[in-house]
Amino acid sequence: MKAAVIHEFGPADVLKIEDAAAPRSSAGEVLVRVRAVRVGGLLDVGTRAGRNPFARFSFPHILGADFAGDVVEVGEGVERVKARDRVAVSPFVACGQCPACTSGRDYGCPNAQLIGINRQGSYAELVSVPEKVVRRIPDQVTYEQAAALALSGPVAFTQFSVAGLKPDDWVLVTAAASGLGLVTALVARALGARVIATSRKDWKRKLLAERGFEHVLDTDDEGFAGKVAEITGPTGAAIAVDNIASASMFPKLQASLGRLGVLISSGAQVAEPVPLDMRALYLKSQSVVGIRTHTQAALDGFWRLAEEGVEALVDRTFPLEEVADAHRYVEAEKNFGRVLLTID
Ligand SMILES: [Zn+2]
Repeated sequence: MKAAVIHEFGPADVLKIEDAAAPRSSAGEVLVRVRAVRVGGLLDVGTRAGRNPFARFSFPHILGADFAGDVVEVGEGVERVKARDRVAVSPFVACGQCPACTSGRDYGCPNAQLIGINRQGSYAELVSVPEKVVRRIPDQVTYEQAAALALSGPVAFTQFSVAGLKPDDWVLVTAAASGLGLVTALVARALGARVIATSRKDWKRKLLAERGFEHVLDTDDEGFAGKVAEITGPTGAAIAVDNIASASMFPKLQASLGRLGVLISSGAQVAEPVPLDMRALYLKSQSVVGIRTHTQAALDGFWRLAEEGVEALVDRTFPLEEVADAHRYVEAEKNFGRVLLTID
């Protein structure tokens, strides 16, 4: 089968299109013909460059995490899907046995494996994956859309399930023009929330407004919390989602939260120690929760929600043969929305 293979860490040129041995589906696994794969900054570009500390594998290796395609065959015991089903696959394979998994909070599983990191990935015509991360997709969702949503959609669904989102709640989504942030904002809206989207870049705020977000703010704005209060009124935001962990931004987010407000940390791109106003936390009964990824239940919940229409923004697609160009494009941070590989 055709695959993009790496034999070493390094620049985009280390990605080579080769003929690799095709996998078969073993018990509990699903063999998928890949149609579209997301190219991400951390799991893909960071791993290829040797910057992912969790990437310990032997070469040759096939990258590729979240993707969509068609089921070719299923191994013994697989019941969730059958041959020819159109499916989306999340790369996060929780162990199913640890206390986090057995309590339904598998986003905290310490033994999870990642497709494309701990197992061969989806930059290939065929990949075999565990049944538990495979979900059928609605007919109207394209492979490209499904690949763009396969991980971030269920992550967002998990965030809002844990935070107890209710219709008409005000939800603040930071970095809403990023690939993950935009899906988070769209899922919040699909769940009936009122969304305040933020971006620090003027051109991105303009694009967010064009995507129908009525309230778009700049977190660098000194009067940020005041502007949120003007929008929400005295209730404040019920939930704030932060993927940045910046010492200058975090206090503004907490100040925007109302009583019983929940601040969700789902990423730490800047990863600074942040000041937490303990007095406000205590007096307003607020919480701060870290959520690394998604639950099994959120895979079901998200794809049910997607039947009503959650449209990710796809910036650009590249054929698998141009995988090195796709990596350079993501590395240059030129994209607004998801970048995908497609395999005909
Ligand atoms: Zn586990």
